[in-house]
Amino acid sequence: MDNTIIKLENVSFSYESGDDPVKALDDVSISIKEGEFVAIVGKNGSGKSTLAKLLNALLLPSEGKVLVDGMDTSDPENTIAIRKACAMVFQNPDNQMVATIVEEDVAFGPENLGLAPHKIRTRVDESLKAVMMYEFKDQKPHQLSGGQKQRITIAGVIAMHPKCIVFDESTAMLDPAGRTDTLKIMHKLNDEGVTVIFITHYMEEITNADRIIVMGDGKVVKEGTPKEIFADSEGLKELRLGVPEVVALADLLREGGLDIPEGTLSEDELVEALCRLK
Ligand code: ADP
Repeated sequence: MDNTIIKLENVSFSYESGDDPVKALDDVSISIKEGEFVAIVGKNGSGKSTLAKLLNALLLPSEGKVLVDGMDTSDPENTIAIRKACAMVFQNPDNQMVATIVEEDVAFGPENLGLAPHKIRTRVDESLKAVMMYEFKDQKPHQLSGGQKQRITIAGVIAMHPKCIVFDESTAMLDPAGRTDTLKIMHKLNDEGVTVIFITHYMEEITNADRIIVMGDGKVVKEGTPKEIFADSEGLKELRLGVPEVVALADLLREGGLDIPEGTLSEDELVEALCRLK
């Protein structure tokens, strides 16, 4: 059985801006399978956010086709089902909260799905527990930290039971603790079968993704496992992208003559490699 959940076929997208349209995506083809954790990276302006919005039918392709769970985003009859199947979490939690009490905010999505009140109650409770925010259910969102607010936003999304969640720079405005919590939740959801698409600037956050897609000037310029992508630090530098600190350190030690294996991605792997040296 074909378990592709996201498919972009030769997709281009241009913004109409004055006399000159801006081509944000240029002949992009991507296929993502159900249950994958895919990171999308690229310098500013490379087309990542435009791509994210195409996955949710917030934008429609100028050319080519976007299929979400088999549904063509260009058909308006599919829009509601597409947004149910593939939800988005954006950068700024403040822009995504709609209610003045945490649990009401989380209930907003399931209410819009027209679920019965007892089902809404169950989903709100489950979702708040999944993001470790159940005890905050009666609080006002503005009293919470950025990381806590983002967890509430994610609870609101989980409560809709989407098959796929696109996180568009969702960790960018958070402090380190908020980032770590959000990442943990993303991986937990992925372990439970949710497809995760994570757009980020932080290379440290994607060393355990299943696959990394690198964007440059509206095109997919590289695709591979973290080991494959980070093996080419020079190529990433040319795209004005960095590598995780551990990878940079391993590269330096290797250049200095130490026998550190290519593809060392974590602190633990680096320590093991160093301990093996005589
Ligand atoms: P990224 O998320 O990688 O920073 P974007 O998808 O936001 O990239 O932008 C891709 C290109 O489209 C850039 O050249 C950007 O300036 C342009 N762009 C983005 N949004 C708009 C818009 N609303 N109107 C005109 N051009 C836009």
